[in-house]
Order: sequence, then C-alpha cells, then structure tokens
Amino acid sequence: MTKGNINVSVENIFPLIKKFLYSDHEIFLRELISNATDATLKLKHLTSIGEAKVEYGQPKIEVKIDKKGKKLHIIDQGIGMTAEEVEKYINQIAFSGAEEFLDKYKDSGKDAGIIGHFGLGFYSAFMVADKVEIITKSYKDEPAAHWTCDGSPEFSLEPSKKTERGTEIILHIAEDSTEFLEEARIRELLTKYNKFMPIPIKFGTKEINDPDFTPKTTKDKDGKETTEPHKKITVDNIINNPNPAWTKQPTDLKDEDYKSFYRELYPMQFEEPLFHIHLNVDYPFNLTGILYFPKMTNDLNLQKDKIQLYQNQVFVTDNVEGIVPEFLTMLRGVIDSPDIPLNVSRSYLQADGAVKKISSYITRKVADKLKSLFNENRKDFEAKWNDIKIVIEYGMLSEDKFFEKADAFALYPTVDGTYYTYEELFNKIKANQTDKDDKLVILYASNEDAQHSYIEAAKAKGYEVLLLDSPIVSHLMQKLESTKENITFSRVDADHIDNLIKKEDTKISKLTDEQKTELETLLKEVIPAEKFSVQLETMDSEATPFMITQPEFMRRMKE
Ligand code: ADP
Ligand code: MG
Repeated sequence: MTKGNINVSVENIFPLIKKFLYSDHEIFLRELISNATDATLKLKHLTSIGEAKVEYGQPKIEVKIDKKGKKLHIIDQGIGMTAEEVEKYINQIAFSGAEEFLDKYKDSGKDAGIIGHFGLGFYSAFMVADKVEIITKSYKDEPAAHWTCDGSPEFSLEPSKKTERGTEIILHIAEDSTEFLEEARIRELLTKYNKFMPIPIKFGTKEINDPDFTPKTTKDKDGKETTEPHKKITVDNIINNPNPAWTKQPTDLKDEDYKSFYRELYPMQFEEPLFHIHLNVDYPFNLTGILYFPKMTNDLNLQKDKIQLYQNQVFVTDNVEGIVPEFLTMLRGVIDSPDIPLNVSRSYLQADGAVKKISSYITRKVADKLKSLFNENRKDFEAKWNDIKIVIEYGMLSEDKFFEKADAFALYPTVDGTYYTYEELFNKIKANQTDKDDKLVILYASNEDAQHSYIEAAKAKGYEVLLLDSPIVSHLMQKLESTKENITFSRVDADHIDNLIKKEDTKISKLTDEQKTELETLLKEVIPAEKFSVQLETMDSEATPFMITQPEFMRRMKE
C-alpha cells in the first residue's frame, strides 16, 4: 500500500473547490459521467486501431445509489487505469489543473457568476462527497488499483481484487448533500445533463413486455376466449439516447425524424415545429445542431423551452445569450460545439472571436434556409409567414447581415392577401405611387377594421395597401426608409395619400360645390386644422362622402 501526499501546493484545496463551485454542486455527476464516457470512447478508439487487444463489446455506464451506505457509484467499462496512471492522472495532472484554475481565477472568481460552469473534472466529486474511492482495472494486463481520499491532500493507493475492466468511482456523500442519494434527484440530473451522451447510461432496471413472447389465446369448452398475460422481462433502464439526431447526417434523416427529435427535446411541447435547420460545420470551428422554428404564440411561457447548448453531447446550459444572435433565441433546438469556451464569463464570451464567428455562421445558415424554403415552396412559406415574421423582422432590425439577406424572403402582405417581396412590391407600385418629391410611397394599414374606409378608398385608386400589424413593424419601416433609396411609408389614413401622383384621376365627388363648401366649413369647426386635413373631392363612394386624414408624422408621434 502506498501512502502519499497529493502533489499540490495549495494546502487545502477542498474548501476552495466547495466555495468556488457552490452554486453548481450538481455538475459533479456530469463531470464523472463525462470521464466515464471519455474512458469508454478511448477504449473504443484503441480497439479500433488494434492497439488494445480486448473485446470492446457493448459497454455501458452505470449509476447506482446505495442509500443505506450513503454512497453513490459510477461504474464504467472503459479503458481503466493502472496504479501508475492513477498517480499520474489523478494525483498530479488533475490537481495541477485545479491549482492553475485557482491561480487564474482567485480574484475574479469571487464575483458571483464569473464561473458559470467550470468543470473541475474529477475533483468536483468533493463538492458533494467527503470521501472518494476509485477502484480501477486497466485494459492492460496489470493488477487493479484502489485509491482513497478523504478530502485532505492525503490519499492512499493499494492493489484491488477487481477483475473486470473499467473504473468504479464511489462517492461517500457528505451530510449536507444527501439529496444526491435520492433516486428522483439523480434521475433529474441524468435527464438534464446526460440525456444525449454517446454511451448508454444505466440507472436501475425496468419491466417491459418480452418482445419474444406472444401471448396465447385459448378457448374453453363454452367458446370463451382467454388470453394469457404478457410475459414480463427485466431490462436495464437506459436513460439516454446515445445517437441524437443532430449527430447524424442530414441526408440520413427524414422530416419525421426531426419531428420526433423535437418531441424528445421538449416532451411537454405538443405543437409541432414549423421547420428545422440542421447545422453542420467543421471549419473554422466545430459545430453541429438542429434549430427549430416554433409556432410563435403570444404565450409568455414561450421562452421556457429554449435552445440547449451541448459540448460533445454533454448538456452545458440553456442560456445561449451571446452565442446565438438575440433574435434567434426565440428558436428552439440544440447547438453542440467543443469550441465554445464554457468556463468564462458572458462578457468574455461576447468578445471571443470564435464565438462571434459561430454567431454569424448561425445567422447566415438561418437566412439561407429561409431563402431556400421560400424558393422551394412559396405558398407554404406564405402560409407560415404570420408565425415567423416576428423573428425575421426582429432579425432584420438587429443584424445588418441578416437584413441584407432577408430581401430574398421577407414578405410584405397586402390587405388582399397577396404577399410581395420588396422587389415585387417596388415594381408593382413604382408607376403610380410616388409623391411630388418623386418618393415612392408605400401605403400600409395597421388595423384592417378601423382603417377600412381608407383602405377601400386607396384600393379604389388602384393603390396597393400593405397590412403591417406586427409590434415592431414601425421600427422596421424606419429602417427600410433609411436604407432603401427614396421611399417612404405612409399609413393609409395619413394625408400623404392625397399628394400621390396619379396617372389619371377619374373619381368625381358626388357632392355639389355648394354642399362641399357647407360641409367643409362645418368640419373645420369641429376638427383642429393643425392636426387633420379634410378631403372631399376624390371620394367616390356614398358610404364615405369625405375623409379626415392625419399627417404621417403626427401619427408616428403617437406610437
Ligand atoms: P479531464 O477529464 O479534463 O482530463 P478530470 O479531472 O476529469 O480532467 O480527470 C483527470 C484524468 O483522470 C482524466 O484525464 C483521465 O485520464 C483520468 N480519469 C478520470 N476518470 C476516469 C475514468 N472513469 N476512467 C479512466 N480514467 C479516468
Ligand atoms: Mg473530466
């Protein structure tokens, strides 16, 4: 038996570990399962290149609670460690890593939130355990080793009788962490962090109907049928899906596969997504993922189901602020990238070059997908417009790159249900919707019912009237006015409409001159002239003998 001191200069590292990672105690399980996964994948690699001459088999990772003994076991069938390797990887490297971390973040770490998700790896076990054991047998033909450490820098290392390959980590759960001996709590953590990890994770067993058994139906002498009960078998309860859709090739997936993955991600979402975007890039950074456009509702719970960020299939966070452009945080789905630095503050993230590239890549992919959806099936795209316009309009407002690309698919619906792209609209109205300054006037209504008579009047003149009613559209109009040449938006009840250059005006008022003067005087008395103007001449409908309009600037001032 070896006894020794763990190679560390910080005298007592454990209180520090506890303190620094306080708010995030639960990540210890994610870290230990990540190590077990790494160990298994390393073995897979070594057997595949012929370096490890052992049977890889169908390894799994098991998590076991021993409530009586107050212990939590994490068992893998991976590469294992020799005693020498335990010395090297557990005693030296991991501790020097921890030391470096503490050195680096001694000061900044004190500010809450700086270390959001710092995976301190193996030693995070000491956040919840006051004693940790490692029993491990390498795939190499060497005796197994048993390491024990009670949270002081002292450890013991002795031979063990373990015969099966792999590593068992035993946590003696501390008094203040007994929640981690509760089955429900562990299941919750496994579902949160490990749901899509690449090696099957067993947590207990379950009973299922034996698939090889067909219940027999027999008839008794009266002709009454009885079917024998289905035979049950006990199988491992595997909590994860090791091959989630985003790790596959888009060409291997059907529409239904994407939909069922959506249900897997958000079991409480009953509404189907409108469409998906499969992200897949390996240069200049690695990133995979699937984003879904959900049906937008006014439901404020909308943000409950968010985009989830993974690193090599390990859940990291569902706060993707800074990584995904803000307008796309309304989407759902997963992003997986080993290249996103996770151990640093959000403000650092936003300044990080790789993260900026990721953000603009995602923006571009989303724009490209929208464009191809539009080109492939315009009718379908138009039908979805109302559900997706918020995201698109918000994106046009907040990301210039997206604004440029959006010209290809952003739609401007008219009150009659025609959907124009900007270019189509421009061509349609350029001949007869200009004002005296030769500006193109784009007429729109924001409320079909309230502005009904104005809409009818404008239509009667052959003008196109858009229906723009989303909450941010007035900002978008300003942006379009300042970027497109020589255009102005005018609400259909604004006075602009009187000044349009019409090719010909055949509309004649049904009122006589006398009636008009009379009406005009009457109206001017009741309507403040500085705010509204009254128009009598061009009305052709008996239902609308005259119109009261308000200057566009006045109208926008109210908003
Ligand atoms: P990291 O995983 O970032 O390398 P850790 O502190 O989590 O740091 O682990 C330190 C090292 O200990 C690992 O790199 C690995 O070599 C070894 N190790 C930890 N857990 C296992 C395990 N279950 N099986 C084999 N080796 C392990
Ligand atoms: Mg690790």
